[in-house]
Amino acid sequence: MHFEILAGYFEKIEAASSRLEMTALLAELFEKIPAKEIDKAIYLCQGRLAPLFEALEIGMGEKFVMEAIARTSGFERKEVEKKFKEVGDLGLVAQEFASKKRQKALFKEDLTLEKVFANLKKIATASGIGSQDLKIKLLAELLNSAKPLEAKFITRVPIGNLRLGVGDPTIMDAFAKILAFEFAKENKKETEKIEKELKEKNPEKRKEELERKTRQKIREKIEEKYNIHSDLGSIAQLLKEHGLKGMEKIEITPGIPIRPTLAERLASAEEIIKKLGKCAVESKYDGFRLGVHKKNGQVWIFSRHSENMTEMFPDIVEAVKKQIKAKEAIFEGEALAFNEEAEEFYPFQVTIQRKRKYEVKEKTEEFPLRLFCFDLLFLNGKSLMNLAFKERRKKLEEIIEKGKVVELTKSIITDSPKELERFFEKSISSGLEGIIAKDLEAKYIAGARKFAWIKLKRSYKGELQDSIDCAILGYFEGKGQRAEFGLGALLVGVFNPKKDQFETIAKIGTGMSEERMKELEKMLSKIKQKKKPVMVSSNLEPDYWVMPEFVIEVRADEITKSPIHTCNWNGSEGLALRFPRLISMRRDKKAEECTHSSEVKRMFENQKKQSTESFGKEGNA
Ligand code: AMP
Repeated sequence: MHFEILAGYFEKIEAASSRLEMTALLAELFEKIPAKEIDKAIYLCQGRLAPLFEALEIGMGEKFVMEAIARTSGFERKEVEKKFKEVGDLGLVAQEFASKKRQKALFKEDLTLEKVFANLKKIATASGIGSQDLKIKLLAELLNSAKPLEAKFITRVPIGNLRLGVGDPTIMDAFAKILAFEFAKENKKETEKIEKELKEKNPEKRKEELERKTRQKIREKIEEKYNIHSDLGSIAQLLKEHGLKGMEKIEITPGIPIRPTLAERLASAEEIIKKLGKCAVESKYDGFRLGVHKKNGQVWIFSRHSENMTEMFPDIVEAVKKQIKAKEAIFEGEALAFNEEAEEFYPFQVTIQRKRKYEVKEKTEEFPLRLFCFDLLFLNGKSLMNLAFKERRKKLEEIIEKGKVVELTKSIITDSPKELERFFEKSISSGLEGIIAKDLEAKYIAGARKFAWIKLKRSYKGELQDSIDCAILGYFEGKGQRAEFGLGALLVGVFNPKKDQFETIAKIGTGMSEERMKELEKMLSKIKQKKKPVMVSSNLEPDYWVMPEFVIEVRADEITKSPIHTCNWNGSEGLALRFPRLISMRRDKKAEECTHSSEVKRMFENQKKQSTESFGKEGNA
């Protein structure tokens, strides 16, 4: 396919003003792309050249990109640099210089998606002596033939700046739109059932509703596979080749990450026991959640959002090879830095130092990790996801050999709130975060938050029991003294995965030191934009928007109803944080992994319940 077509769609997608419009554009685009190229288009839509779990660094310095633009346009580097200072976006700079080229290219070709992708991939994999020059050449080769719009999007890839704002759920929805007709034809019974229900309930909007429900069904079927195989590129290929039937071919595979199950929260030991009855209660360790895969001699380590971290943790790789007695296994655990001398855990701020690409060896020696394992999903060619938790845990126990690095999480089985409480206190006093209670009979539910796991953390007086992880959505320049930092307050929000949108929950101006404000300004001004990203729902208009990318931990006094913020918006009001304070940056989380709107809603309901309970107690006293 000609790259020009893709660039044309990228331009329209970038300008789209709603998610619906974006989904429709993507569906149109995906229909046009042949099956063998669809994976490449999907990765580019995600601003990447491979699925997230392939550790492929695109990185090319801005000055080398400018060199390539200068070489192909016949302008001086200085002129390119000047333009970049003016507009702040190398994509736009490349577009402009491509439209006013001074020199005619000797050899020009029509760019195909295949050619563009191949060169960009070579740029990403070039390393060693002379690689910078090679990268410039490869990019220049593309820019030489590129039309202005093509130049804009090509250039954004190697500098990691191709953000179309297309989330994975939107890509899945686009396929659902494409496949709706086929689904209705092949699943007559199911469609008739939906139609019958609708006829009774909502006769006017029947056609629209039928289509919406059908798409929802298809999205669920795709997502179910995506949850055990987080590579939308290869999923798209199967969908193009075989339709929804293609999903049957997808199985758990060591080396391809599984999306993790998530924990719900409740406010007390009593509530947990009421909900789960007899359950397993484990210490909650505050480190990195790792998905560890082993096949024969090879080990892969993935973060909770499917990022490949194998190179970062050589100590864990070695230990897994030694201590896991299975040919093939996929299991999960939490890794923490452990102070051998003091025999205690380091705080999260220390553990996080192990998330690095450089000086890995030094830091491994300085802060060795321990891995506390809590679940087993795959063993010697078989998925264990449908087994009850207690069975999975038993098998997990069987495959871990005693050693210094890999061990099981501390755990008890109980149906007594008192005993749960005692275990909780013990965990807290040994420097851990709290507990996670687990339903003994539950299957492993990839990628979802169900009551199979329930967390209980330490409570803080006068504060919300738990902090909230918020995505930064924009910022205000600030008045008076704050104006000098260029940043006075942040607009932050939480994620609603059903709607694939971020919803605002607070404007944070307090709790930020001068340094923090400077640091935030430096970070955010690089990605600031005037247009509201499509996936953000907001009634407020900050001075600058940013694509949701950075996550911060926020504490607040309580959750209140708000006529402004759009978190769980019901048409006239949403939920907001009262007295929000920034606590820390959560660099280990990506935007979609911040707190979800549904969690905030539940926290709000819990809070209401608790305040009526304590009011009741006071009233009785
Ligand atoms: P939270 O991030 O607060 O929603 O809590 C859930 C996280 O706790 C999981 O994603 C794990 O990273 C972490 N965790 C720590 N200890 C455990 C454990 N014993 N079982 C499951 N998850 C745990």
